[in-house]
Amino acid sequence: MKFSGTTVTTLFTVISPSILAATGYGGDNHVGFDALSNRGNARIVLRQVRETASASGSGIRSSEMTAPQTSSAQAAGSETATATASFSLHSINPTAIPLSAINTDEHATSTRQLKHTAAPGATPTFIPDAPALPNAALLKPTDYPPLDQVPPVDSEQVKMWVEEVKKTGVVIPGLEPSQPGGCSNNSAFAMDSDRCWWTCGGCTRPTDIVECPAAMDWGLTYDDGPSLYSSDLLAYLDEVKIKSTFFVVGSRVISHPDILQAEYMAGHQIAVHTWSHASLTTLTNEEIIAELGWTKKVIKDVLGVTPNMMRPPTGDIDDRVRAISQAMGLTPVMWSRASDTSLFDTDDFNIRSGKTTAHEVLQNWGAIMKNATSRSSGFIVLAHDLFEQTVQMATGYILPDALSHQPPFNIQPIISCQEKEMKDAYLETAGSEKNSPIISEAISSGEVTLTGSANSAKKTEESKASSASFITLNIGVWLLLVVTVLMTV
Ligand SMILES: [Zn+2]
Repeated sequence: MKFSGTTVTTLFTVISPSILAATGYGGDNHVGFDALSNRGNARIVLRQVRETASASGSGIRSSEMTAPQTSSAQAAGSETATATASFSLHSINPTAIPLSAINTDEHATSTRQLKHTAAPGATPTFIPDAPALPNAALLKPTDYPPLDQVPPVDSEQVKMWVEEVKKTGVVIPGLEPSQPGGCSNNSAFAMDSDRCWWTCGGCTRPTDIVECPAAMDWGLTYDDGPSLYSSDLLAYLDEVKIKSTFFVVGSRVISHPDILQAEYMAGHQIAVHTWSHASLTTLTNEEIIAELGWTKKVIKDVLGVTPNMMRPPTGDIDDRVRAISQAMGLTPVMWSRASDTSLFDTDDFNIRSGKTTAHEVLQNWGAIMKNATSRSSGFIVLAHDLFEQTVQMATGYILPDALSHQPPFNIQPIISCQEKEMKDAYLETAGSEKNSPIISEAISSGEVTLTGSANSAKKTEESKASSASFITLNIGVWLLLVVTVLMTV
């Protein structure tokens, strides 16, 4: 944006209340990293916004944030420790909501209508031979488990998925589920390196995606939607022409199937983030299968395609969860870390609860930028599209700043930064060689046809013709696939 004067100076001070004393469950915040809790009682001064002239003569808005920090111990009058963090924002969206107004209140006034509503039977132009889009209006919530609860495991559907997982031959480690409460409530498990529990120490396996390989590549991700505010984010991403990966919660897909379709049809990648946002290591094998299976299914029912990536809520994954994910054709995607205590996490989720302020999110963003530009590989950042505040931070501050960064970041979905095409993000369009061997064999045998233009055309007609057809068809495909898998084994 261009300012009329050479210098614009703004001075305001925010003194936040006691915050982040203890990080419990919330969004994708990870329990067990005490250092992350030391942002409490921060006195933050956003003291200057000024214009500087670039070489091209266009105005660049720059702000400097200085944040003297005090620890909880200092606030209590004991030993003091002070740290100063400062960084500059290269650009702010001219329509950004003032930081002081991004707080625990949720206004819902800025939610935009979807720019495009996808038509049933439409096919995405960016995925060759993609199946036709089902009619989202026909989705029946009663065909799915109750929202926001771990699905029951005694349904015929879940039993079928359990058998399907067994038949893959993937060995699931006999690890006992963890107790709720993270590392501090599971000290023995936390120290068990064989478990490779990401939450407690950041252990990963080569099968996890934890970064983008190429330096300056940013694998953009948003979790926990689709929500009413996703439409604001979609409009902005459309405006600046960048694509993201959305890790969606199955229950939210039931709530907003039209928004999921809009995300998919706009060229964004859709991936699995469980049915009820449960901490997966606390669940039984069957419950994990139910969480992932129902989410895969509702996405397939709404989009016509099945994702092959997943993100565990709060990053809660160990080797048992990994094995089940693998058996269900899902590759785990985490977020990057510079060290055990420095994660690529905006902590935007906690603005709404008051555990984090908008200023602190920008501080986190500044730290992420420093780490991102000094590493030899690309990176993945944790952010959310569930709440108004998280979307306001993304569209008002974080993305505009990232987009004006020099040298530029290559902002893209996870599938793209892994040097694959969007079609490789889905079971039906990835091609036999991109799917697990057992599924590939079923597809290549010709006994199961999940994609192809002929199939798309057929589905288009069916979805137009019958109000119940798309769900029936998809259940039929699932049944056929399972039967074929069983026969193949
Ligand atoms: Zn989440």
